[in-house]
Amino acid sequence: MTADVVISGGGPNGLLLACELRLGGVHPVVLEKLPERSTVPRANGLVGRVLEALDHRGLYEPLAGRPGPPDPTPFFTFGGLQLDLRNLDPNPLHTLLVPQARIEQVLEERALELGVEIRRGHELTALRQDADAVTLDVSGPEGGYRLRARHLVGADGGHSLVRKQTGIGFPGITDDRVTSRAAHAVVPEALLAELAGRGLPPFFHNRLPGGSFTYAQMPHRPGVHIVSVTEGDHPPVPDGTPMTLGELRDAAHRVLGTDLALVLGEPPASDAGPPMLRRTTGVNSRQADTYRSGRVLLLGDAAHVHSAMGGPGLNLGLQDALNLGWKLAAEINGWAPPGLVDTYESERAPVSRRVLMHTRAQSALVAPGDNITALRELFTELLGDTGTLRRIAALMAGTDVPYGRWLSTAPVPGLLWRARPALLTSTGDGRAAAVAAGWKDRVDLVPVPRGPGPVAVLVRPDGYVAYEGDASDGLREALTRWFGDER
Ligand SMILES: Cc1cc2nc3c(=O)[nH]c(=O)nc-3n(C[C@H](O)[C@H](O)[C@H](O)COP(=O)(O)OP(=O)(O)OC[C@H]3O[C@@H](n4cnc5c(N)ncnc54)[C@H](O)[C@@H]3O)c2cc1C
Repeated sequence: MTADVVISGGGPNGLLLACELRLGGVHPVVLEKLPERSTVPRANGLVGRVLEALDHRGLYEPLAGRPGPPDPTPFFTFGGLQLDLRNLDPNPLHTLLVPQARIEQVLEERALELGVEIRRGHELTALRQDADAVTLDVSGPEGGYRLRARHLVGADGGHSLVRKQTGIGFPGITDDRVTSRAAHAVVPEALLAELAGRGLPPFFHNRLPGGSFTYAQMPHRPGVHIVSVTEGDHPPVPDGTPMTLGELRDAAHRVLGTDLALVLGEPPASDAGPPMLRRTTGVNSRQADTYRSGRVLLLGDAAHVHSAMGGPGLNLGLQDALNLGWKLAAEINGWAPPGLVDTYESERAPVSRRVLMHTRAQSALVAPGDNITALRELFTELLGDTGTLRRIAALMAGTDVPYGRWLSTAPVPGLLWRARPALLTSTGDGRAAAVAAGWKDRVDLVPVPRGPGPVAVLVRPDGYVAYEGDASDGLREALTRWFGDER
């Protein structure tokens, strides 16, 4: 049997893609080498447009514990400089503190509800493609087996086997000098007061001569903070050395000159796994040469990695999944116009290039040295200009995408929950419906009350507007361009 799509990797991006494909009527198989969901702490939150995008699918509420739409954040940070967004109108930047383990749980539950086949404990070990399919060697709990797939998506993380075996290059830079240490820790009250007294606020990359220090209160965990210290040019720790709280305290002492009397913060009962204690050495900033080679596509960290500054990783990867899902489903369902799947790369690779650019710029801004201090002063002045602030906020939110207007709030509740293309038409005006009759199997007609806006708005399943106007000109071309020939 040949599967339509196999996704290698059941991390957040692979799981969301699987949900999207199911919504598009495709039955993907997810191969995930871990027998259980990972409890290794990674992302602490989501930043940017992805929150509105998840709300379009009804996924914001289970993550946030309250209904959408998400509220914009009044403050954020860029390279350890404060962004005061209170007077920015509109403010495009949304944030939600939510651990990655919870995000993966919500996405896995949704995928299972939708009927996705997730094979845990199944590792992809080799692949080769021919004209008709990709042949996969898989090692499962009961031994090895072979699988054929019309398409393979590598959502298998930064060390992607799919990318390597397909021969796709991953150029960029690796900075081996940087070491970050982090823990979920109880910070004594007196110390919090001392940090505040020294002008070192929470939720901030506090840059000091020897490195940077960050601490932030964990949501729903009174007294527990995430504490992180990043240093450059410090002697490397020998491979295999276990990370300890003492190592974090030593690093904090070098950077702050203060002894942080930290105690590990126990995770809440709902978070499986040990308290977080982590050392990360080196920062990779790389992007795949191409996102596609024949029947193989790359998604998420397999396609791009970068520093975690500003938390852009999931904003990028999850929106890759929302962009690819409906296009690949259209290809498999036989109605994709020529080149539709290739627009995944032409639309998303430039967005990733901007994330690499701004995370590298932020890394430069927190580096030591008097020249950088001068650069920060200049940047601080520039951020006083509303235009600059607006540009940086859009960069951090990932809202400066060049491929169309974004429908931030769906005019009809649940409009995009099923990931179907929608044509919003003014009630009582039959022009758009007449043009779109040949696409009614693929595009839902949604009447909306007549207002001052355009008579017809064509919305792609990922929330981008493909056409707006009075339906007399261009609607037929837009329908054909995105949703294939009329039937
Ligand atoms: C310390 C840290 C902090 C971060 N903080 C943030 C943050 O605050 N906000 C944010 O948005 N992002 C953050 N990120 C980035 C975010 O964690 C990643 O972008 C995200 O995990 C990428 O998801 P993914 O699904 O592409 O890959 P992964 O999460 O790496 O998932 C890949 C999956 O593939 C599986 N796999 C690998 N090889 C195979 C194989 N051969 N066969 C089968 N399965 C395989 C793996 O087991 C894994 O489950 C952070 C990352 C780190 C490391």
